[in-house]
Amino acid sequence: MSDEEFVFSEKPLALASGEGLTLTGEDGTEYLDFGASYACTPLGHCPPAVVTAIQEQAGELLYVQGSYPVAVRTALRERLATVAPGDLSKVWLCNSGTEANEAALKFARSATGRSKVVVAKRAFHGRTLGSLSLTWKDAYRDPFGPLPGDVEFVPYGDAEALTAAVDGETAAVFLEPVQGEGGVHPASDAYLQTAREATEEAGAALVLDEIQTGLGRTGTLWACEGAGVVPDILTTAKGLASGLPIGATLCADWIAEGAGNHGSTFAGNPLVAAAADATLAGLVSQEVPANAAAVGEYLQSGLREAVAEHDLPVREVRGSGLMIGIEVKRGANRVLRDLALQQQILALPAGRSVVRLLPPLIAETEHADAVIDGLVEVLG
Ligand code: PLP
Repeated sequence: MSDEEFVFSEKPLALASGEGLTLTGEDGTEYLDFGASYACTPLGHCPPAVVTAIQEQAGELLYVQGSYPVAVRTALRERLATVAPGDLSKVWLCNSGTEANEAALKFARSATGRSKVVVAKRAFHGRTLGSLSLTWKDAYRDPFGPLPGDVEFVPYGDAEALTAAVDGETAAVFLEPVQGEGGVHPASDAYLQTAREATEEAGAALVLDEIQTGLGRTGTLWACEGAGVVPDILTTAKGLASGLPIGATLCADWIAEGAGNHGSTFAGNPLVAAAADATLAGLVSQEVPANAAAVGEYLQSGLREAVAEHDLPVREVRGSGLMIGIEVKRGANRVLRDLALQQQILALPAGRSVVRLLPPLIAETEHADAVIDGLVEVLG
C-alpha cells in the first residue's frame, strides 16, 4: 500500500464504534483519534447528551419542512444567535460547510449588489461550484472549470495586498482565521483587523469561514473573538452536530435584510437540530474552548521540546489551540500511515508536508503525551 493510498483512499482500518477520543476497529484494536475525522467530533465520539437528544428527537419528529416552527430548530437558532460574535443574530441553517459558504456568497452579493470577491491564496472554502471558485488549489478547481468568476486571490497574511484589492466593486472578503487545508497557517490579529477595516470602508462584507476554526478549536468559541474582530458573516459546520450533517451562516442584520431568496429542503431538520443544540450546549457548559487553549498550548510546547530533544525531522510546529500543524521534512502521508498502523494514533494531512492534529476538544494532557511519544517513535 502506498502512502498516497493510505491517506486518500479507503484505509485498512475498519472501524466499528467510538467513545470519547477512542475509535475501536472491527478487530478490537483501539485508536486514539487526533483527527476527529476533520474536526467533526468536538465533544468526542458519541457524547452521551447528544446521543440522548438524538434518540428522543427521533421518537418525536424526524422531519418537517423549514417553514413550520419546530421547538428544537428554534432553540438551536436562538442558541447560535446567543453565542455568535457581536450582532450576528440572523441564522441560516444548511447541511454542510460548502453550503454555508455558498449562502454567504449569495447573501453578500445580493446585500451589496456587487459581485467581486477577494480571497486568499491557499484558501479552502468548499467544493460546490460557488465555494470552489473561492478555493485555491488547482487540483480541486481545474477539472471543473470555468468556475464562477470575479474572484481575486491575494497572498494570505499580506495586509497591504488585501487592502489594495478591496474596492467599491467588492461584495465580500472571505478568510479563514487559520488556514486549515492550506497547511495550518494562523493569521495575525492585525491582519484580520485590517480585513475588517478595509471591508467596512468599502461597504463590503467580511466573511470569516470558521468551519474548521470555530466551536472552540482555537481556544475561544470563535477564532475571531481572539482577534477582537466581528465579521458581517460567519460560517460554521463540521462538528456543530457532533458528526451529523449541518452548516450555519450567521449574519448581521444588513446582510439578512438584503439576503434574497435562498432555501434547502433538509436545512435545520429536527433530528440534526437536536444534535447541534445539545453539542453547542455541551461546548459552552463544559468550557471546552478553555480546555482547547490549555491542552493546545501544552501539546504545542511539548511537540517543540520533543523536536529539539530528539532532533526530529520537523521544520515547524504551528497552530492555535487544538488546531496544530507539524511541518515534517519527509512526506506527511508516510508519517500518518506509521502513526496509525504502528502507534494506533489517527491524524490528518494538510498538503504533502504537514501532519495536522484536530482532536476532539475534550482531549487531556495524557492524550497529548501519547501523541508526542507516538510521533517521537515514528519520526525518531
Ligand atoms: N471551509 C473550511 C475552512 C473547511 O475546512 C471545509 C472542509 O474541510 C469547508 C469549508 C467545506 O466543508 P464541507 O466539507 O462540510 O462542505
